[in-house]
Amino acid sequence: MLQDKDRIFTNLYGWDGTDLKSSQKRGDWSNTKKLIGKGREWMIEEMKASGMRGRGGAGFPTGLKWSFMPKDSGKPQYLVVNADESEPGTCKDRDILRYEPHKLVEGCLLAGFAIGANTGYIYIRGEFYNEAVALQKAIDEAYDAGLLGKNAAKSGWDFDLYIHRGAGAYICGEESALLNSLEGKKGMPRNKPPFPAMAGLYACPTTVNNVETIAAVPDIMRRGGNWFSSFGNENNRGTKLFCISGHVNRPCNVEESLSIPLRDLIEKHAGGVRGGWDNLLAVLPGGSSTPVLPRHICDTVLMDFDSLKAVQSSLGTAAVIVMDKSTDIVQAITRLSQFYWHESCGQCTPCREGTGWIWRMMKQMTTGEASIKDIDMLLDVCGQMEGNSICAHADAAAWPIQGLMRHFRDEVERRIIEYRKTQAA
Ligand code: SF4
Repeated sequence: MLQDKDRIFTNLYGWDGTDLKSSQKRGDWSNTKKLIGKGREWMIEEMKASGMRGRGGAGFPTGLKWSFMPKDSGKPQYLVVNADESEPGTCKDRDILRYEPHKLVEGCLLAGFAIGANTGYIYIRGEFYNEAVALQKAIDEAYDAGLLGKNAAKSGWDFDLYIHRGAGAYICGEESALLNSLEGKKGMPRNKPPFPAMAGLYACPTTVNNVETIAAVPDIMRRGGNWFSSFGNENNRGTKLFCISGHVNRPCNVEESLSIPLRDLIEKHAGGVRGGWDNLLAVLPGGSSTPVLPRHICDTVLMDFDSLKAVQSSLGTAAVIVMDKSTDIVQAITRLSQFYWHESCGQCTPCREGTGWIWRMMKQMTTGEASIKDIDMLLDVCGQMEGNSICAHADAAAWPIQGLMRHFRDEVERRIIEYRKTQAA
């Protein structure tokens, strides 16, 4: 288990104060000026050495992303923090926003300096009202103390930070939809390229990072990239916030080392599966869009990007949703299909039409009012949605269905056969 001294988020449960003074006692803002004095290149190299992969779900290396920003574009450059946390089962950024806001604010200044941005925007999910209030309080405190604004933290770097509240669309968590929304346009994903580092916010070079990624920056800079990369396995480095929910005895958010076994995570931190490990049916390991894993895989799988990819699932946002044997797994996945249909922005035909079609088919699968060949047709449609749209939303809608059929096809077929028998009788 990760020791307390190695935790970045030491006030994750809000047991201590969230104001500037309390945050400084925990080490925030302790040598910000000195860190900035080491220069932009040093920071990017340190981030690369840490092995940090973006914590928003895609897992792209953060240091590499920062290095894509031009040195001197002649245009304003922006840092945008994605706080539009809306993936079902995910609630880690929320706890950073309300209990560790100064880590995020300091991280914004450091990351802004590293990518050459004098302005940062935090795009926060509209429903996070209390979190926006807590964050604004932290930003105001930082301005009053001279830690933001002109010559921020006496570093010689000017940095302004603003909050923008979203209006509740899940798709605004996709970085280019987020940028459109921030510009006052409809929150619809953009065609890529160009990528944000070339033409992002207001067509200027922009880096979009997740809350957890940016909030970890001050500790990585202070303790060193090598310290961060000492946790986890090759290519899956550092500590990570996991959200454990569903049929466990103690649902929780916890910071752990990447590559921790899923079983240890559930048993040591969440009090185990309701009714014991043998009562486990399946787990969604990284939020609602990640393919479901049956128990025999959960016995041994490690919680990191590559291990979960190897079992045809994904780390996603590391939101572990546990389902015990009382779960109607077909209905559960059907409910997720409804969610993805509702949240499609409607720009691409495969996504707009496909999400609704698979939801309707899944409702029939739940009651058994389908035929066996419908299962193959459903999988065929999912395959055609994957990779054929502007953003990953269509893929995210297809993956839970593919996971269900991969591991629980017997259950779907059983319902169809039962229904046929009942009708015949
Ligand atoms: Fe919109 Fe779906 Fe296309 Fe993404 S994949 S741009 S959500 S229609």
